[in-house]
Amino acid sequence: MSINTEFTGALQAELDQLKADRVYKQLNHLESPQAARVQMEGRGEVVILSSNNYLGLSNEPSVVEAGIDALRQFGAGTASVRFICGTFTVHRDLEEAIARFVGTEASLSYVSAWNANEALTSTIVESGDFVVSDELNHASIIDSVRLAKAIKKCTTAVYKHGDLDDLRAKLAANRGARRKIIWTDGVFSMEGSIAKLPEIAQIARDEGAIVAMDDSHATGVLGETGRGTAEHFGMLGEVDIITSTLGKALGGAAGGFIAASSALVDMMTQRSRPQLFSNALPPTVAASSLQAIRFAEQHPERVRQLRENARYFREAITEAGFSPLAGETPIVPIIVGETAKAIEMSNRLLDEGVFVTGFGFPVVPHGQARVRCQLSAAHTREDMDFALAAFRKVGRALGVI
Ligand SMILES: *Cc1c(COP(=O)(O)O)cnc(C)c1O
Repeated sequence: MSINTEFTGALQAELDQLKADRVYKQLNHLESPQAARVQMEGRGEVVILSSNNYLGLSNEPSVVEAGIDALRQFGAGTASVRFICGTFTVHRDLEEAIARFVGTEASLSYVSAWNANEALTSTIVESGDFVVSDELNHASIIDSVRLAKAIKKCTTAVYKHGDLDDLRAKLAANRGARRKIIWTDGVFSMEGSIAKLPEIAQIARDEGAIVAMDDSHATGVLGETGRGTAEHFGMLGEVDIITSTLGKALGGAAGGFIAASSALVDMMTQRSRPQLFSNALPPTVAASSLQAIRFAEQHPERVRQLRENARYFREAITEAGFSPLAGETPIVPIIVGETAKAIEMSNRLLDEGVFVTGFGFPVVPHGQARVRCQLSAAHTREDMDFALAAFRKVGRALGVI
């Protein structure tokens, strides 16, 4: 007996088409930890400008040590789901720290932010409820809403990106709904823009709705001390539900969470299917993330450094003749036009020793393909200047500047 070669042949034909369309993703393999500079297999040292390691904590010695200690104390993992026999004290400690950090009563960890988002919507809505989501929300939110619609028969809508009138209109058209959820990213990852949280919260108040905000690109990044979009706007404690990742600024390992009232968190513990039927975060990861939060709390200067690096890079790249999207986050998208050009630029930058990814259609609209730079507190002036020189050289060669 052999495997179904008709099936694998059909898959291969689709993959070949992706290559022909020049949208096939090549994976680059790294031989060293995430940092401002990494060792890339077959290339040597490159400067990374496309990592979510915003605070430089993924290779912070105390974060690594905490994981090693937890491996010794708790072993490899939970060997069960949370409520059966899979909760360690480090999970509770982590969840208390998360809640303290983002300014909510309680929190619950998941194996990823994707998982946390997927869990949320369908657990808290029923038929007759209404969910409205920003059109540029992360894929995990889109899928979470689709899942809720499929299994709970709630009504759903998408509002134009950041368009408060559209949001208001969609809510007004669904005033009869029992429960109304507004889903937004805190920071939109392809644009580097920040949600209009004060207005969204006001609209929610006016319409009796609930705000669910995914702060994955904001946790550890926005606000004076990195506590996220709520801190940025002076609104700590004023967001109903915050979801976020532990896989970006907070150590970069993996994992995500839902932070909210104790009641919501308890309900997720009781009812959300990824909690009930899937293992918890490995204790190594929980301990590293816990240490990452403690480190962030003790080192607000890292957040200041991140902000300073983003400001420096944004100004310098503009001076070099590029047109980055305006903004104040460490995400600096440089619009170059067609998809092929963004990919070509990314490839040539890698040849110059700068690892930064190009994004095109369908991830972003036609004609707005971009090379998305992400700054880290770990970048030195030298790292950034090295990258800027490469951008100038490649930008000229491709006629972008
Ligand atoms: C990265 C990201 C996620 C996914 O995070 P994981 O923990 O890797 O699953 C979810 N939402 C947003 C907005 C993100 O940027």
